[in-house]
Amino acid sequence: MFDYLIVGAGFAGSTLAERLASQAGKKILIIDKRSHIAGNAYDRHDDAGIMIHQYGPHIFHTNSRQVFDYLSKFTKWRQYQHRVKACVDGQLLPIPINLDTINNLYGLNLTSQDVETFFASVAEPRDQILTSEDVVVSRVGRELYEKFFRGYTNKQWGLDPSQLDAAVTARVPTRTNRDDRYFTDAYQAMPLHGFTRMFENMLHHPNIKVLLNCDYREVVKHIPYRKMIYTGPVDEYFDYRYGKLPYRSLRFEFETHHRPVYQPAPVINYPNDYAYTRVTEFKYLTGQEHPQTSIVYEYPQDEGDPYYPVPRSENAELYKKYQALADATPNVHFAGRLATYKYYNMDQVVAQALALFQKITVAEEVVIATPSITSASSGMATAAGRTSNGNHAHAKTAPRSKRRHLDDIIKS
Ligand SMILES: Cc1cc2nc3c(=O)[nH]c(=O)nc-3n(C[C@H](O)[C@H](O)[C@H](O)COP(=O)(O)OP(=O)(O)OC[C@H]3O[C@@H](n4cnc5c(N)ncnc54)[C@H](O)[C@@H]3O)c2cc1C
Repeated sequence: MFDYLIVGAGFAGSTLAERLASQAGKKILIIDKRSHIAGNAYDRHDDAGIMIHQYGPHIFHTNSRQVFDYLSKFTKWRQYQHRVKACVDGQLLPIPINLDTINNLYGLNLTSQDVETFFASVAEPRDQILTSEDVVVSRVGRELYEKFFRGYTNKQWGLDPSQLDAAVTARVPTRTNRDDRYFTDAYQAMPLHGFTRMFENMLHHPNIKVLLNCDYREVVKHIPYRKMIYTGPVDEYFDYRYGKLPYRSLRFEFETHHRPVYQPAPVINYPNDYAYTRVTEFKYLTGQEHPQTSIVYEYPQDEGDPYYPVPRSENAELYKKYQALADATPNVHFAGRLATYKYYNMDQVVAQALALFQKITVAEEVVIATPSITSASSGMATAAGRTSNGNHAHAKTAPRSKRRHLDDIIKS
């Protein structure tokens, strides 16, 4: 009998599996329908041997000491400050917009104070900030909005910024100094050996079994378990009773080039040209040295894996109905970005999972064990893309039928 059946081996599911197994002594079965752990943060070596992020570039950043300390138990880090350029009017300019963006775009030599005055002179005041267009136009005026935001947002969401909640563009700051970092969080780093290796370390515990290539609905009736943690799409869990929650998806196109460097920045945004939104060169993120280099183009689309909940008020209303169903479902906890229909960064999902773990321990009056977590420095990890967990390897490669494999897991 498993104490918890966890659906989804991304940040939400894996954090909860790790905590419940190592701290509360619970027996866990974690299931993912994909062929790998790590959810959307999954990384692997491509055919050329270059580490890529299969579901688009993932950069870790957080202001939470608790989250950073927690993940540091499972990985060493490589310091990394992310930088992005936008291709506008034939120039590569820093984004978020800063002093250099304005000076280079207009061939000026403004100071920080001048640029503040400039923004104030072009900003279009709004009584109420309701949409993504309002956010930008009221900060930096219409021209910069058109050059840097409108086209990008249109491509990314298939909607004009005037049709999207303010939250979408409010995430991107505007600066009057020369700080060209994309994030300003206190902790900015990449897992030294990649995200997948970090997840392998998290799930490397005798109480955790991992079943891959399996939609939980195929097997849930055959598995003895007490409670469920569900990190998949909440509307799917309830068989789309109130209709589908809209998501925006992406198509990724990877390329390997026979030269050490492809472009002059880790990410280049294309707000106004091409069907893709941005191009990422992975070696900047990972620090890998290699004579070749791999890049990825991102093409936004409606169909495909659910990546971004579409932030519009009618969707929030629809989600509330599902949330009410979720709240009324006994013995199932809903966690992570798909189950709560919110765009969360990785650190927010970990924080949410740690908070849920606390809630569970209080509700179940769990006695917390002395920490017994596999440490990143314990030498347990194997090469990324392979596994340090016997169960996991078995689940991934076993040629036997799913049912037979399931029986093995249940008996073990
Ligand atoms: C293109 C892109 C770039 C991003 N970049 C960043 C970034 O730079 N920094 C950052 O902090 N965050 C970034 N994020 C966000 C980050 O991916 C998420 O915060 C994080 O992956 C969410 O973890 P999760 O566990 O909630 O969901 P997921 O990682 O999506 O995991 C959910 C898992 O559940 C599984 N599942 C679903 N349904 C079933 C089912 N029926 N049966 C079995 N398994 C199921 C799925 O296969 C999936 O593996 C990015 C997201 C995207 C899409």
